[in-house]
Amino acid sequence: MFADDYDHRRLNTLSWIRYAAALSDDPVLLLPVGSHEQHGPHLPMGCDAILADAMAVRLAEKLDGLVLPVLSYGYKSQARSGGGEHIPGTISLDGASLTLQVRDILRGIFYHGVRKIVVLNGHAENQWFLTEAIDLALREALPARPDLHLIRCEYWKYTPQSTLEAVFEGLSPRLNPHYVALLETSMMLALKPDLVDMSAMPSDRSGQFPPHDAYPQTGEGVPPSGVLSPVSGASAKKGRRLIRDTVAAMAAGLGEALNE
Ligand SMILES: [Zn+2]
Repeated sequence: MFADDYDHRRLNTLSWIRYAAALSDDPVLLLPVGSHEQHGPHLPMGCDAILADAMAVRLAEKLDGLVLPVLSYGYKSQARSGGGEHIPGTISLDGASLTLQVRDILRGIFYHGVRKIVVLNGHAENQWFLTEAIDLALREALPARPDLHLIRCEYWKYTPQSTLEAVFEGLSPRLNPHYVALLETSMMLALKPDLVDMSAMPSDRSGQFPPHDAYPQTGEGVPPSGVLSPVSGASAKKGRRLIRDTVAAMAAGLGEALNE
């Protein structure tokens, strides 16, 4: 699905012989994690997986790392961050399912001696389940593996403030879910323009929510399009800048952290 110029960074394109040889270089392994979630009428439902994968392969290029196949399902969409589970096509995992799947993958990576791992998250609702997976995997592995060095990272937290200000053109953005639509649409225009339907870009109001979550979720407050924030102003040019600056910041920050 993601065949591109980065195939040489993808673990599932290597033979085991080449992987075994690469292990002697103490590589960073990156595990991108996304979701299968509605992203409005104009974007594909694999958006979070596509973006996490795209960030991971570019980061691997800078860190001389290898990328595991992207996990394409995530934790349940929440009304205030992703629109919720009521929209057709949003297909999610229970928290325990996501946690144990990632724990098992980490166990498999540890087993062959990898030391440095980045779990690169592309879907906000995943974060604490990825943390739990890392904690469970480490609990098993330690104290026999004091060399292990893991990082969990939401890629958007590395987007520089100056880049956001340029992208939002003076709207003084705060990077929270209510501003995500413009960012994701721009990055998808840069990466996969054929998968973006510009004619279907929504123009309805932003999501309106109280500062709490109410259950069972009914979709109340979610705009009919499913898109929680304005999309107008999205462009491939902005997307290219977002990707370039975010990857550069991650490479600097994570590169330093992994070499401590
Ligand atoms: Zn998304």
